[in-house]
Amino acid sequence: MAKLNVARVITGRDRNDRTHQARIGMRGRARYVECDTCGYRKAAPIAAARAADRHLTGRHGVGLDSVRQERPASAAVRPLLVVAFIALLFVLMFLNAP
Ligand SMILES: [Zn+2]
Repeated sequence: MAKLNVARVITGRDRNDRTHQARIGMRGRARYVECDTCGYRKAAPIAAARAADRHLTGRHGVGLDSVRQERPASAAVRPLLVVAFIALLFVLMFLNAP
């Protein structure tokens, strides 16, 4: 099976102050929610963040107020690279203008 390309990590704490983490990302062409604590894995084409919340609160008793969402650095950098590339194209265009 293809590696999970993580786009978002959702972390929360249960009553015993244990941390549980679910990851949302693409595996091949399908979006998946995966849980680090119990190995839960589910295809979630829509509302993946809600599916992850529901798993963490339902299965692990995570308090909704402790839930945090973050993007891994690799996922946050990608849009910046696209902007930098477009800026570079503009610079090259002006340099080549007659
Ligand atoms: Zn789990």
